[in-house]
Amino acid sequence: MLPLRKRWQRWWRGESTAGAGLDALLLAHYPGAVMLLDDQGVVCEVNPAFERHAGYPPEQLLGRRAVMLDIDPLRGDFAQALEQCLATRRAWQGVLLCRRADGSLRHQTTMIQPLQQGEAPPRLLVMQYDVTGMRERELRERHQLTRLEGSVARMPGVLFRLRQDGEGRLEFLYLSEGLQSLFGLAPEQCMDAPQSLLGRLPDEDRQRLEAVLAQSTVSLAPWQLDFRLSLPRGLRWVEARATPLARREGEQMWDGVLIDIDERKQVEQRIQRLVGIDMLTGALNRRAFLEQGEAALARSARHGQTLSLAMLDLDHFKALNDTYGHAAGDLALQLFATTCRESLRPYDLFARIGGEEFVVLLVDSRPEEAWAILERLRQAVAAIELEADGETIRFTVSLGLAVLSADGSLDAGLGQADRALYRAKHSGRNRICGPESLVQTPDMP
Ligand code: GH3
Ligand code: MG
Ligand code: MG
Repeated sequence: MLPLRKRWQRWWRGESTAGAGLDALLLAHYPGAVMLLDDQGVVCEVNPAFERHAGYPPEQLLGRRAVMLDIDPLRGDFAQALEQCLATRRAWQGVLLCRRADGSLRHQTTMIQPLQQGEAPPRLLVMQYDVTGMRERELRERHQLTRLEGSVARMPGVLFRLRQDGEGRLEFLYLSEGLQSLFGLAPEQCMDAPQSLLGRLPDEDRQRLEAVLAQSTVSLAPWQLDFRLSLPRGLRWVEARATPLARREGEQMWDGVLIDIDERKQVEQRIQRLVGIDMLTGALNRRAFLEQGEAALARSARHGQTLSLAMLDLDHFKALNDTYGHAAGDLALQLFATTCRESLRPYDLFARIGGEEFVVLLVDSRPEEAWAILERLRQAVAAIELEADGETIRFTVSLGLAVLSADGSLDAGLGQADRALYRAKHSGRNRICGPESLVQTPDMP
């Protein structure tokens, strides 16, 4: 038996089809149309399945130019491809839009291979395979995707996919067009260089983001975070909500959405300022405290009463946040505030003046009474049990006590309390320190 290549060559030359059973078998089973063309592009041979795949009876095509299959026989891609093959003697491959004898249009993946036999004029082997179904599916999918992208772009938020690798590096695999319209940042640029977006978070917010991601990586729970973005037109509040995808070796991904909540935050803050109440803990805010504190000071001066002022700061609160997450931290602040109010009298002032810094103004209290009240408060805080991630979290508070003279100022009192708090922190935390001038009674520790 002749080698396959030789037998093919014979078949091309039309020398012998005897013993070409395999060739005939191959051609008969090729799931498409095959044509052999001369150097004028005229069809000399077709395979047995030609009619089924090209939609033309062979007798209508044999002896005629193959480009009559093209939707545009004169200037169409088929004619150009044939010309190019003959000129360069190189194979061509592409998709041609062809017309069947019944007039229907089909997308045919086409390969044209020039065949050179010695000095004889070159011939062209053309193989076509109908991919109309695949093409239509592809077009339908592309159409759906375009429609979906349009809807995503019109969404009042930014969809994102965030990835964190084993080394903790963050990268955006996807950011929707909303990033441009809402925040004026180019999605492509932020995907190429994540710092273009992440570098706009103030340090504290960036740390909170890292903490929620670390927690979500362990718990595989969705997360939510309000943070600020530093944009050319100023800081803007943004809310992120995301759900982790199944973890793959060494990396974690989240799908989520960013929403511009700046207006809502401004309104919240305006209301807080108007109302004078801190939204998280329900304590007075700093401004309300200063106002009401001045009024209390004036009243006690008139009545010759003593005021005690204490500054409170939660111990190692950053570690609590880092270990159990910001949400657990917020819960701890709320429980702390509730416990403080329960330990104080209704007319004492209790305010949140910083993140985890609070102040208490005890009206008409001598230092010993104030000390006793605050000591009960300290113990009540140490007894709080906060449940998070199936664990019981405990935390403590340090206190600095100051005594306000009738003619003293609130500012001076706050300074004194702050110095006392500093000493409480440096002498071991979870304790009260008073001003150096305060003479301690036996029931003071
Ligand atoms: P120290 O015992 O010396 O006071 O240590 P600390 O970790 O408590 O002190 P530091 O001032 O370094 O950390 C305070 C932390 O409080 C950092 C900040 O992330 C956190 N924090 C501030 N405001 C909030 C808040 O509203 N919610 C939560 N969850 N954490 C907050
Ligand atoms: Mg602090
Ligand atoms: Mg603290």
